[in-house]
Amino acid sequence: MKIDLHTHSSVSDGTDTPTQLMAKAAAAGLAAIALCDHDTFDGLDEAAQAAAAAGVELIRGIEISAELGGQSVHLLGYGCRAADDQLLAELARVRAGRTERIPTMLQRLAEAGMPVPKEVLARHIAGSPSVGRPHLADAMVELGYVADRREAFDGWLADDRPIFVPRYSVPLRPALELIRAAGGAAVIAHPWGRQSREVLSEEVLTGLAGSGLLDGVEVDHQDHDQATRDELRELAGTLGLLATGSSDYHGLGKVNHELACNTTAEGVYRELRYRIDERGGMA
Ligand code: AMP
Ligand code: FE
Ligand code: FE
Ligand code: ZN
Repeated sequence: MKIDLHTHSSVSDGTDTPTQLMAKAAAAGLAAIALCDHDTFDGLDEAAQAAAAAGVELIRGIEISAELGGQSVHLLGYGCRAADDQLLAELARVRAGRTERIPTMLQRLAEAGMPVPKEVLARHIAGSPSVGRPHLADAMVELGYVADRREAFDGWLADDRPIFVPRYSVPLRPALELIRAAGGAAVIAHPWGRQSREVLSEEVLTGLAGSGLLDGVEVDHQDHDQATRDELRELAGTLGLLATGSSDYHGLGKVNHELACNTTAEGVYRELRYRIDERGGMA
């Protein structure tokens, strides 16, 4: 049973619609898939319909922009009740921050000699409620300023590059509490990938495990090399955290993140579903 617990659609910064994504999941031989768009549940109803048609189990997910000590932490929530008012309010605040920073980034791009007309950007946002730097990157590609998203991030958009403008993210502990209150299960995405390794130390992960609010960590992810995976898997085992594996698929938006390139063990998947069920979530 192949299970991929972290993917994105065009409802955030992926390039496949939820319907296209579910068809590709079936074609890739996935039995179960989680759609985890950034800071929005908007793709999930379409995904559920398409998953049923494609014969794939859908787990309703989200990737919440969280932070700890000012560092970005991505938090996967599985099975959250999408009508939870407190969670919805906090997600709306994150999305507002995403939208509000865009004019400043456009101004900085123009000052750097790379003007991006609003209508070009709008075409790449394509109605997404969760505007991300990848949309800006795609506009820069179209205008010939960079070759691909990676070049846009490495040269201009990454957190330590000149165009970057920070935005609101949910403090990690309240984010974990919101997921729990909405009946969901919480897994930290790519905890020892690019940005978050310094802040998510062994000591911090130990504290989070002790809080009882964290269910697991994403161990098998393309941003983790083999040594990192081995080390993190062992720590997860020691701390009683579930270890997941996923592609973080973004369609054409991320190379080397093909569907099912990493997968989650069936036992871990069943345990997540069991916990969501126990908590009154909606897996
Ligand atoms: P934002 O959501 O605006 O904070 O932008 C962060 C998102 O950009 C991440 O969730 C990734 O999907 C994407 N991203 C970050 N770094 C890169 C990169 N080097 N190449 C392509 N996409 C990236
Ligand atoms: Fe993304
Ligand atoms: Fe992420
Ligand atoms: Zn992701």
